[in-house]
Amino acid sequence: MQPVRQKDKLAMNGREPGAVTGGRQRVRGRLRRGPGYAVLAALLVAAAASGCAAGDDADTAARSAKAQAGQPGAPAEPAGGALGTRAAQAERARLAQAARAVAAKKWGLATTPLAAPVPPAKKPHLTTRKGFEVSGQDDSLPPVFTRVPTTDKVVFLTMDDGDDKDPELLKMMSELNIPYSAFLTDYLVRDDYTYFKDAQSRGTVLGNHTLNHRYLPGLSHDEQKREICGQQDILQEQFGKRPRLFRPPYGNYNTDTLKVAKSCGITAVPLWEAEAFPDHMEWREEDRKLHPGDIILTHFRGKADWKGSMPDLVRSVMKVITDQGYSVARLEDYV
Ligand SMILES: [Zn+2]
Repeated sequence: MQPVRQKDKLAMNGREPGAVTGGRQRVRGRLRRGPGYAVLAALLVAAAASGCAAGDDADTAARSAKAQAGQPGAPAEPAGGALGTRAAQAERARLAQAARAVAAKKWGLATTPLAAPVPPAKKPHLTTRKGFEVSGQDDSLPPVFTRVPTTDKVVFLTMDDGDDKDPELLKMMSELNIPYSAFLTDYLVRDDYTYFKDAQSRGTVLGNHTLNHRYLPGLSHDEQKREICGQQDILQEQFGKRPRLFRPPYGNYNTDTLKVAKSCGITAVPLWEAEAFPDHMEWREEDRKLHPGDIILTHFRGKADWKGSMPDLVRSVMKVITDQGYSVARLEDYV
Protein backbone atom coordinates (compact mmCIF):
# COMPACT_ATOMS: atom_id res chain seq x y z
CA MET A 1 0.00 0.00 0.00
CA GLN A 2 1.33 3.46 -0.84
CA PRO A 3 2.26 5.61 2.14
CA VAL A 4 0.11 8.54 1.02
CA ARG A 5 -2.97 6.33 0.76
CA GLN A 6 -2.26 5.00 4.21
CA LYS A 7 -2.29 8.54 5.56
CA ASP A 8 -5.65 9.08 3.95
CA LYS A 9 -6.95 5.92 5.48
CA LEU A 10 -5.69 6.83 8.92
CA ALA A 11 -7.10 10.30 8.56
CA MET A 12 -10.57 8.83 8.43
CA ASN A 13 -10.33 7.67 11.94
CA GLY A 14 -10.38 11.01 13.65
CA ARG A 15 -13.56 11.93 11.80
CA GLU A 16 -15.72 9.03 12.80
CA PRO A 17 -18.80 9.80 14.88
CA GLY A 18 -17.40 8.26 18.02
CA ALA A 19 -14.50 10.68 17.99
CA VAL A 20 -16.80 13.59 18.70
CA THR A 21 -16.85 13.00 22.39
CA GLY A 22 -14.50 15.61 23.77
CA GLY A 23 -17.10 16.98 26.17
CA ARG A 24 -18.01 13.58 27.53
CA GLN A 25 -14.63 12.41 28.72
CA ARG A 26 -14.62 11.34 32.33
CA VAL A 27 -12.20 9.18 34.20
CA ARG A 28 -13.86 6.73 36.53
CA GLY A 29 -12.77 7.10 40.13
CA ARG A 30 -12.38 3.41 40.68
CA LEU A 31 -9.58 3.26 38.16
CA ARG A 32 -7.56 5.51 40.44
CA ARG A 33 -5.79 7.31 37.63
CA GLY A 34 -3.93 10.50 38.52
CA PRO A 35 -5.22 13.89 37.38
CA GLY A 36 -2.43 14.12 34.81
CA TYR A 37 -3.86 11.10 33.05
CA ALA A 38 -7.34 12.63 32.89
CA VAL A 39 -6.00 15.88 31.48
CA LEU A 40 -3.93 14.07 28.87
CA ALA A 41 -6.85 11.91 27.78
CA ALA A 42 -9.17 14.91 27.53
CA LEU A 43 -6.62 16.92 25.56
CA LEU A 44 -5.94 14.11 23.12
CA VAL A 45 -9.59 13.43 22.50
CA ALA A 46 -10.41 17.12 22.17
CA ALA A 47 -7.55 17.50 19.70
CA ALA A 48 -8.66 14.47 17.74
CA ALA A 49 -12.21 15.77 17.56
CA SER A 50 -11.29 19.33 16.67
CA GLY A 51 -12.76 20.42 13.39
CA CYS A 52 -15.83 18.24 13.88
CA ALA A 53 -19.18 19.93 14.24
CA ALA A 54 -20.56 19.54 17.73
CA GLY A 55 -23.65 17.39 18.07
CA ASP A 56 -23.49 16.02 14.57
CA ASP A 57 -25.22 12.78 13.73
CA ALA A 58 -23.65 9.75 12.16
CA ASP A 59 -24.51 10.73 8.61
CA THR A 60 -23.06 14.17 8.95
CA ALA A 61 -19.92 12.78 10.49
CA ALA A 62 -19.59 10.21 7.72
CA ARG A 63 -19.99 12.89 5.05
CA SER A 64 -17.46 14.99 6.84
CA ALA A 65 -15.09 12.03 6.99
CA LYS A 66 -15.46 11.46 3.27
CA ALA A 67 -14.84 15.11 2.60
CA GLN A 68 -11.69 14.94 4.72
CA ALA A 69 -10.58 11.86 2.89
CA GLY A 70 -11.13 13.57 -0.45
CA GLN A 71 -13.50 10.90 -1.67
CA PRO A 72 -15.43 11.37 -4.90
CA GLY A 73 -18.86 12.82 -4.38
CA ALA A 74 -17.96 14.27 -1.02
CA PRO A 75 -18.96 17.86 -0.34
CA ALA A 76 -16.16 20.29 -1.12
CA GLU A 77 -14.05 21.53 1.76
CA PRO A 78 -13.79 25.29 2.23
CA ALA A 79 -10.79 26.43 0.17
CA GLY A 80 -7.55 27.40 1.84
CA GLY A 81 -8.26 25.88 5.25
CA ALA A 82 -5.18 24.46 6.87
CA LEU A 83 -7.30 21.67 8.37
CA GLY A 84 -7.98 20.38 4.88
CA THR A 85 -4.33 19.73 4.10
CA ARG A 86 -2.99 16.25 4.01
CA ALA A 87 -0.50 17.00 6.76
CA ALA A 88 -3.30 18.22 9.02
CA GLN A 89 -5.30 15.09 8.28
CA ALA A 90 -2.35 12.90 9.14
CA GLU A 91 -1.81 14.86 12.35
CA ARG A 92 -5.46 14.48 13.27
CA ALA A 93 -5.25 10.75 12.61
CA ARG A 94 -2.16 10.49 14.76
CA LEU A 95 -3.90 12.31 17.60
CA ALA A 96 -7.02 10.16 17.24
CA GLN A 97 -4.97 6.99 17.50
CA ALA A 98 -3.02 8.43 20.46
CA ALA A 99 -6.34 9.17 22.16
CA ARG A 100 -7.46 5.62 21.43
CA ALA A 101 -4.25 4.27 22.98
CA VAL A 102 -4.95 6.30 26.13
CA ALA A 103 -8.54 5.02 26.21
CA ALA A 104 -7.38 1.44 25.65
CA LYS A 105 -5.16 1.69 28.74
CA LYS A 106 -7.92 3.30 30.77
CA TRP A 107 -10.40 0.55 29.90
CA GLY A 108 -7.91 -2.27 30.36
CA LEU A 109 -7.66 -3.49 26.75
CA ALA A 110 -4.71 -5.79 26.06
CA THR A 111 -3.73 -3.78 22.98
CA THR A 112 -4.86 -0.60 21.26
CA PRO A 113 -7.57 -1.25 18.63
CA LEU A 114 -6.37 -0.67 15.07
CA ALA A 115 -7.60 2.32 13.06
CA ALA A 116 -10.24 1.46 10.45
CA PRO A 117 -9.54 2.37 6.82
CA VAL A 118 -11.55 4.94 4.90
CA PRO A 119 -14.83 3.25 3.94
CA PRO A 120 -15.44 2.47 0.27
CA ALA A 121 -16.76 5.32 -1.91
CA LYS A 122 -19.19 2.79 -3.39
CA LYS A 123 -20.77 0.17 -1.14
CA PRO A 124 -20.18 -3.44 -2.20
CA HIS A 125 -22.95 -5.34 -3.99
CA LEU A 126 -24.58 -7.73 -1.52
CA THR A 127 -26.04 -11.09 -2.36
CA THR A 128 -27.68 -13.76 -0.22
CA ARG A 129 -25.18 -16.28 1.15
CA LYS A 130 -25.32 -19.67 -0.55
CA GLY A 131 -27.52 -21.98 1.50
CA PHE A 132 -29.37 -19.07 3.12
CA GLU A 133 -31.96 -18.63 0.35
CA VAL A 134 -35.69 -18.92 1.04
CA SER A 135 -38.17 -20.76 -1.19
CA GLY A 136 -39.18 -18.49 -4.03
CA GLN A 137 -35.96 -16.53 -3.53
CA ASP A 138 -35.40 -13.76 -6.04
CA ASP A 139 -33.13 -10.76 -6.26
CA SER A 140 -35.87 -8.37 -5.21
CA LEU A 141 -35.79 -9.66 -1.63
CA PRO A 142 -33.35 -8.11 0.87
CA PRO A 143 -30.04 -10.08 0.83
CA VAL A 144 -29.23 -12.30 3.83
CA PHE A 145 -25.50 -12.47 4.52
CA THR A 146 -22.96 -13.17 7.25
CA ARG A 147 -19.96 -11.39 5.70
CA VAL A 148 -19.65 -8.19 3.67
CA PRO A 149 -17.66 -8.59 0.45
CA THR A 150 -14.52 -6.49 0.97
CA THR A 151 -10.76 -6.90 0.88
CA ASP A 152 -10.35 -4.38 3.73
CA LYS A 153 -9.09 -6.05 6.87
CA VAL A 154 -12.17 -4.98 8.79
CA VAL A 155 -14.89 -6.69 10.77
CA PHE A 156 -18.23 -5.34 12.01
CA LEU A 157 -19.52 -5.42 15.55
CA THR A 158 -23.25 -5.82 16.14
CA MET A 159 -25.11 -5.95 19.47
CA ASP A 160 -28.57 -7.45 19.77
CA ASP A 161 -31.70 -7.31 21.92
CA GLY A 162 -31.04 -4.44 24.35
CA ASP A 163 -31.73 -5.99 27.73
CA ASP A 164 -28.65 -4.81 29.64
CA LYS A 165 -28.17 -1.03 29.59
CA ASP A 166 -24.74 -0.43 31.07
CA PRO A 167 -23.74 3.26 30.88
CA GLU A 168 -20.10 2.18 31.02
CA LEU A 169 -20.49 0.49 27.63
CA LEU A 170 -21.52 3.74 25.94
CA LYS A 171 -18.62 5.66 27.48
CA MET A 172 -16.14 2.91 26.68
CA MET A 173 -17.10 2.60 23.02
CA SER A 174 -17.08 6.38 22.55
CA GLU A 175 -13.69 6.79 24.16
CA LEU A 176 -12.23 3.86 22.22
CA ASN A 177 -13.93 5.19 19.08
CA ILE A 178 -15.17 1.71 18.11
CA PRO A 179 -18.32 1.65 15.95
CA TYR A 180 -21.06 -0.91 16.49
CA SER A 181 -24.62 -1.40 15.30
CA ALA A 182 -27.49 -2.19 17.68
CA PHE A 183 -30.39 -4.46 16.67
CA LEU A 184 -33.19 -3.68 19.09
CA THR A 185 -36.15 -5.70 20.34
CA ASP A 186 -38.83 -3.40 21.69
CA TYR A 187 -39.97 -5.44 24.67
CA LEU A 188 -36.42 -5.33 26.05
CA VAL A 189 -35.66 -1.67 25.38
CA ARG A 190 -38.98 0.08 25.98
CA ASP A 191 -38.28 0.61 29.68
CA ASP A 192 -35.43 2.96 28.76
CA TYR A 193 -35.36 4.37 25.24
CA THR A 194 -33.08 7.15 26.47
CA TYR A 195 -30.18 4.71 26.82
CA PHE A 196 -30.34 3.96 23.10
CA LYS A 197 -30.91 7.62 22.25
CA ASP A 198 -27.60 8.23 23.99
CA ALA A 199 -25.99 5.42 21.97
CA GLN A 200 -27.47 6.89 18.78
CA SER A 201 -26.14 10.36 19.61
CA ARG A 202 -22.69 8.80 19.92
CA GLY A 203 -22.89 7.38 16.38
CA THR A 204 -24.48 3.94 16.84
CA VAL A 205 -27.01 3.08 14.15
CA LEU A 206 -30.13 1.34 15.44
CA GLY A 207 -31.54 -1.61 13.50
CA ASN A 208 -34.68 -3.73 13.75
CA HIS A 209 -34.78 -6.96 15.78
CA THR A 210 -38.62 -7.17 16.06
CA LEU A 211 -41.11 -6.20 18.75
CA ASN A 212 -41.10 -9.37 20.86
CA HIS A 213 -38.21 -11.60 19.71
CA ARG A 214 -40.48 -14.39 18.45
CA TYR A 215 -39.45 -17.32 16.27
CA LEU A 216 -40.64 -15.76 13.02
CA PRO A 217 -41.05 -18.87 10.83
CA GLY A 218 -43.67 -20.04 13.34
CA LEU A 219 -45.81 -16.92 12.76
CA SER A 220 -48.30 -16.10 10.04
CA HIS A 221 -47.61 -13.43 7.45
CA ASP A 222 -49.71 -10.89 9.37
CA GLU A 223 -48.12 -11.74 12.71
CA GLN A 224 -44.68 -11.32 11.18
CA LYS A 225 -45.78 -8.01 9.73
CA ARG A 226 -46.76 -6.83 13.19
CA GLU A 227 -43.43 -7.98 14.65
CA ILE A 228 -41.23 -6.42 11.96
CA CYS A 229 -43.16 -3.43 10.65
CA GLY A 230 -44.49 -2.59 14.12
CA GLN A 231 -40.88 -2.33 15.28
CA GLN A 232 -39.99 -0.17 12.27
CA ASP A 233 -42.74 2.25 13.35
CA ILE A 234 -41.61 2.32 16.97
CA LEU A 235 -37.96 2.85 16.07
CA GLN A 236 -38.92 5.67 13.72
CA GLU A 237 -41.14 7.25 16.37
CA GLN A 238 -38.63 6.94 19.20
CA PHE A 239 -35.37 7.56 17.36
CA GLY A 240 -36.38 9.60 14.31
CA LYS A 241 -35.03 7.14 11.75
CA ARG A 242 -36.54 4.16 9.98
CA PRO A 243 -33.95 1.36 9.96
CA ARG A 244 -32.68 -0.13 6.71
CA LEU A 245 -31.19 -3.17 8.43
CA PHE A 246 -33.10 -6.02 10.06
CA ARG A 247 -31.93 -9.09 11.92
CA PRO A 248 -34.46 -11.85 12.65
CA PRO A 249 -34.35 -13.31 16.17
CA TYR A 250 -32.13 -16.43 16.34
CA GLY A 251 -31.27 -15.84 12.68
CA ASN A 252 -34.48 -17.67 11.66
CA TYR A 253 -36.65 -16.46 8.80
CA ASN A 254 -38.74 -17.60 5.84
CA THR A 255 -40.05 -16.10 2.61
CA ASP A 256 -42.76 -14.11 4.43
CA THR A 257 -40.12 -12.62 6.73
CA LEU A 258 -38.13 -11.17 3.86
CA LYS A 259 -41.21 -10.01 1.94
CA VAL A 260 -42.67 -8.30 4.99
CA ALA A 261 -39.32 -6.74 5.92
CA LYS A 262 -38.95 -5.35 2.42
CA SER A 263 -42.48 -3.94 2.50
CA CYS A 264 -41.66 -1.72 5.47
CA GLY A 265 -38.32 -0.37 4.36
CA ILE A 266 -35.70 -3.05 5.07
CA THR A 267 -32.98 -3.33 2.42
CA ALA A 268 -30.57 -5.86 3.98
CA VAL A 269 -30.53 -8.68 6.54
CA PRO A 270 -27.11 -9.01 8.17
CA LEU A 271 -26.63 -12.23 10.15
CA TRP A 272 -23.21 -13.14 11.61
CA GLU A 273 -20.05 -15.20 11.16
CA ALA A 274 -19.05 -15.32 14.81
CA GLU A 275 -20.65 -14.67 18.18
CA ALA A 276 -18.71 -13.02 20.99
CA PHE A 277 -19.08 -13.79 24.71
CA PRO A 278 -17.07 -12.37 27.61
CA ASP A 279 -15.05 -15.58 27.88
CA HIS A 280 -15.08 -17.15 24.41
CA MET A 281 -16.08 -16.91 20.74
CA GLU A 282 -18.39 -19.17 18.80
CA TRP A 283 -17.57 -19.51 15.10
CA ARG A 284 -19.69 -20.39 12.11
CA GLU A 285 -16.71 -21.52 10.02
CA GLU A 286 -14.52 -24.48 10.89
CA ASP A 287 -11.29 -22.46 10.61
CA ARG A 288 -12.40 -20.54 13.72
CA LYS A 289 -10.86 -17.22 12.71
CA LEU A 290 -11.86 -13.85 11.30
CA HIS A 291 -12.05 -13.00 7.59
CA PRO A 292 -12.33 -9.58 5.90
CA GLY A 293 -15.89 -8.29 6.23
CA ASP A 294 -17.02 -10.74 8.91
CA ILE A 295 -20.00 -9.64 10.97
CA ILE A 296 -19.65 -10.38 14.68
CA LEU A 297 -22.73 -10.80 16.84
CA THR A 298 -22.89 -10.06 20.51
CA HIS A 299 -25.61 -8.98 22.94
CA PHE A 300 -26.43 -6.27 25.46
CA ARG A 301 -26.12 -8.54 28.49
CA GLY A 302 -24.83 -8.26 32.02
CA LYS A 303 -23.31 -10.39 34.75
CA ALA A 304 -26.69 -11.97 35.47
CA ASP A 305 -26.73 -13.45 31.96
CA TRP A 306 -23.13 -14.39 31.28
CA LYS A 307 -19.64 -14.39 32.74
CA GLY A 308 -18.86 -10.70 32.77
CA SER A 309 -19.94 -7.12 32.21
CA MET A 310 -20.29 -5.37 28.85
CA PRO A 311 -16.80 -3.83 29.28
CA ASP A 312 -15.50 -7.38 29.92
CA LEU A 313 -17.15 -8.47 26.68
CA VAL A 314 -15.58 -5.60 24.73
CA ARG A 315 -12.13 -6.33 26.18
CA SER A 316 -12.48 -9.96 25.18
CA VAL A 317 -13.76 -9.50 21.64
CA MET A 318 -11.38 -6.62 20.88
CA LYS A 319 -8.43 -8.81 21.86
CA VAL A 320 -9.54 -11.42 19.31
CA ILE A 321 -10.05 -8.75 16.63
CA THR A 322 -6.82 -6.84 17.21
CA ASP A 323 -4.67 -9.96 17.69
CA GLN A 324 -5.79 -11.16 14.25
CA GLY A 325 -4.88 -7.80 12.70
CA TYR A 326 -8.39 -6.46 12.10
CA SER A 327 -10.01 -3.11 12.79
CA VAL A 328 -13.70 -2.53 13.46
CA ALA A 329 -15.50 -0.58 10.74
CA ARG A 330 -19.00 0.88 10.66
CA LEU A 331 -21.42 -1.60 9.11
CA GLU A 332 -23.58 1.13 7.59
CA ASP A 333 -20.56 2.49 5.69
CA TYR A 334 -20.39 -0.80 3.79
CA VAL A 335 -24.06 -1.90 3.71
ZN1 LIG B 1 -31.90 -11.53 19.66
